[in-house]
Amino acid sequence: MTERTPLVAEDRVYNFSPGPAVLPVEVLEQARDEMLSLPGVGMSVLEISHRSPAFDRILEETLQGLRDLLGIGADHEVVFLQGGASLQFSMVPMNLLRGQSGAADYIITGTWGATGAKEARREGKVHVAWDGAASAHDRLPAASEISLSPQPAYVHVTSNETIQGVQWKHDPDVGAAPLVCDCSSDFLSRPISVSKYGLIYACAQKNAGIAGVTAVIIRKDLLARCRDDLPTMLDYRTYVKNGSRPNTPPVFAVYILGLVCRWITTSMGGLAGMASHNAAKAKLLYDVLDQSGGFYAGHARPDCRSDMNVTFRLPDESLEKAFVAGATARGLIDLKGHRSVGGIRASIYNAMPVAGVEALRDWMLEFLQEQRS
Ligand SMILES: *Cc1c(COP(=O)(O)O)cnc(C)c1O
Repeated sequence: MTERTPLVAEDRVYNFSPGPAVLPVEVLEQARDEMLSLPGVGMSVLEISHRSPAFDRILEETLQGLRDLLGIGADHEVVFLQGGASLQFSMVPMNLLRGQSGAADYIITGTWGATGAKEARREGKVHVAWDGAASAHDRLPAASEISLSPQPAYVHVTSNETIQGVQWKHDPDVGAAPLVCDCSSDFLSRPISVSKYGLIYACAQKNAGIAGVTAVIIRKDLLARCRDDLPTMLDYRTYVKNGSRPNTPPVFAVYILGLVCRWITTSMGGLAGMASHNAAKAKLLYDVLDQSGGFYAGHARPDCRSDMNVTFRLPDESLEKAFVAGATARGLIDLKGHRSVGGIRASIYNAMPVAGVEALRDWMLEFLQEQRS
């Protein structure tokens, strides 16, 4: 422990990037230690065959790690795919909307939900059940504002809108239709009741690992909807039948996801521990917003603020530039907001240490003080 501190404090900056994002130091250290030779294997994980016993074990442990952490029951399959969350914007409607009589309903709480709906329109009928665009996606809908179509093929939500910083704090209630969730930017950051969902998808590079692997959790009965005219590699059944290995999977990305699962389990107290750790970090920053007399103006309304991406504006753009420059000089990196919304975005995923958030909080307080004096 004590040897690690100088590495973190002196060599590593605090990386607030929205993704790819900060990884746990323990995970990086283990990957480093095993880089030349996996214990008992004599080769790097970068070199092994995806059909080797060593990878059999890595894949099995990673799938089991996800099942254990999320409490995934026998009704759901877990598969790994490539193409990122963005490919799921198309695969979800290809597999679950084609040939269905109902529309796919989209509850749009930010940029990613809107992008998903746009891709779904290429596949079939889309009904927008709610869209928060009128207030720049600063909130979630009240239950009474969601207007579902009659018998939707599925209802799609985005659990955490990474760009706007708006997060569902409860599982949306959409009646009997299968609930589909883009969980990309809060996957493994908190417990989730998988049994309430028809399909959950998440790329790994926000909270759960590195780019290259996307986890899809799908209720088994929905696989009956997949049609035989789908290209083999875009059909969920291909991945279920072949245990996520119809072709070469991203071996290294699966390995890192497995290490992150183990880190959450053994070092962070599972997903419940992870969630309280993340909520405490977010509170440090939101408290500054709330006590700044409006100087730091949060984008998301308080009741739907994200624990993952804290978004806010300063009184003008030149102050925002000065704030980001000062932060960078202090080793607080990548705080500029997404170009579509501007302002500041602090992404404080699982692996961002409390000390990093405290350093940002201190800079926010110092900057505010400077402006007032
Ligand atoms: C990052 C992100 C995506 C896009 O992920 P890719 O893997 O780059 O395709 C989609 N949805 C959400 C919520 C995201 O945060």
